Parts: sequence; structure tokens; C-alpha cells
Amino acid sequence: MKTPGHVLAQRIRDIGESGAFRPRSDALPTWCPGCGYFGIHQALNQCLSRLELPLHNVVVVSGIGCAGRYPFFSHTYGLHTVHGRTLPVATGVKLANPDLTVFAIGGDGDGLAIGGGHFPHVARRNIDINYLLFDNSIYGLTKGQPSPSSRTGTITKASPAGTFEKPLNATLLALTYEASFVARLFAGDPNGIAAALIEGVKTPGFAFFHIYTSCVTFDKTFKTWAHLKEWVHPLPDDYDPTNRRNAFEMALEDDFSTGIIYRRD
Ligand code: SF4
Ligand code: MG
Repeated sequence: MKTPGHVLAQRIRDIGESGAFRPRSDALPTWCPGCGYFGIHQALNQCLSRLELPLHNVVVVSGIGCAGRYPFFSHTYGLHTVHGRTLPVATGVKLANPDLTVFAIGGDGDGLAIGGGHFPHVARRNIDINYLLFDNSIYGLTKGQPSPSSRTGTITKASPAGTFEKPLNATLLALTYEASFVARLFAGDPNGIAAALIEGVKTPGFAFFHIYTSCVTFDKTFKTWAHLKEWVHPLPDDYDPTNRRNAFEMALEDDFSTGIIYRRD
């Protein structure tokens, strides 16, 4: 019988022996058909391939939730950690071996609620990791409760009268916390995500990727594909991402413009 240790050892051998880039693991993603996470997976794989990063030097760290399953589907090193602790573990990985390229991955519940206290401190310490927030404004794995990015009035089984809190704006938070690189992206545009990931990985310091996505199983009314496609649009052609004041204005005034919102000079 193969133990998890055998599986891990085989995976390490595969990574070491493989001259080819195979960033996708042999495990088929268990996400629901139509979930936006497939587009993000495609984008991160594209980023790894285009940058030709040696896969044994890449670590994907995740928390808990549907996004937390990501490391199983990636042919890199990976850590599926505990709820909300994605960023502290990713920080430890990077500090232990600064030569690694580290991706932290999690949903809006994991990153903005349970782990919300870590986000400002990792950003202001400017740890050189790449944080992908899969924002579908719902807790998918636990069957559809409102999250910190749900719009006011969201009706779920856990909030039958509608939520009364205002949603958090993760892009605005990242700017406030002084992230070195901030991009707002759409899971329906894997090429756009890949392009931003490539730029973010190359930028020293903390890079944040706020990715709008859809939970097709538990959200039939808000962040549906139809709505997201209608709402998202690229940043203006003449937009200057090195101007932090402009970035704040963009984050405040237009929730659905996508692209590289801010990059430190
Ligand atoms: Fe994706 Fe929602 Fe299914 Fe989770 S429950 S895999 S977020 S569609
Ligand atoms: Mg979510």
C-alpha cells in the first residue's frame, strides 16, 4: 500500500528528474465543473511554464477551503496548511530558503476573515511572496455562507435576512498595507492573470493578486459568470501603475477594472 510518504517521495523524484515543464500534477482537480479556479490554475501553470522556473524551486502554500486544495493539483512542492495561516507559513518557507519562488493561495474567507490579521503584516514586512486571493465572495467548501467580501444584503442559509456588513475591498486593503505589487484580475481571463503573475513574480517584495471568480454551485445571484463578464473591463490604456495615488483612486472608484493596479518603482 502506498503511504503519503511514498507518494511524496515519488513526487520529489519526478520533480528532480523531469527536464520538461509539467506544472500540472497527475491529480485531477476536484473543483465543481464550471468553477473559476480552473482558469486560475491554467494561469499559474502558464506563468510557471513561461518563466521556466525549476519546479523543485517552487512552493505553493494554501490554507483551507476549495482554493486550499490547490497544492494537490500542482507539480511543485506544496503545503496545505491550516485555516487562515497561509501567509505565515509562506513567510516561513521564504525565510528558510530565499531562493524559492513562493505562491500563497487562498479564498476570501481564508484570507480576509480567518487569516485577515496576517495580511497587513506580511505586506508591510514586504516579504517576497506572491499571494493569490481567489475571491468569489462566498465560503464554497462549507456550502455557501457569506464571506467578508459578500455584498451587503447577501441572502444565504446562514444569513436568511441578508447580511448587513459592508464588503471588504481586498485591492484597497493591499494598497493600504503597502504591497509592492497589486493586480486585480478575472478568473475568466487566464492569459491576463498569467501576464500579471509573471510581472508580479519578477517584482521584488510582496505581490498581491486579487482574482474575481465565480462559485457556480453556491452563488446563483451575485458573482455569476454572466455578471462578472458584464462588470469586468481592462484598466485604461494610459493608466500608470507606478502612481500610488492613482491606484487608490482606481480601487475606490472602479471595483471592476482589471490589470496591474500598482507596482512600486
Ligand atoms: Fe468552486 Fe464553489 Fe465548487 Fe468550491 S463549491 S469548487 S468554489 S464552484
Ligand atoms: Mg470564497
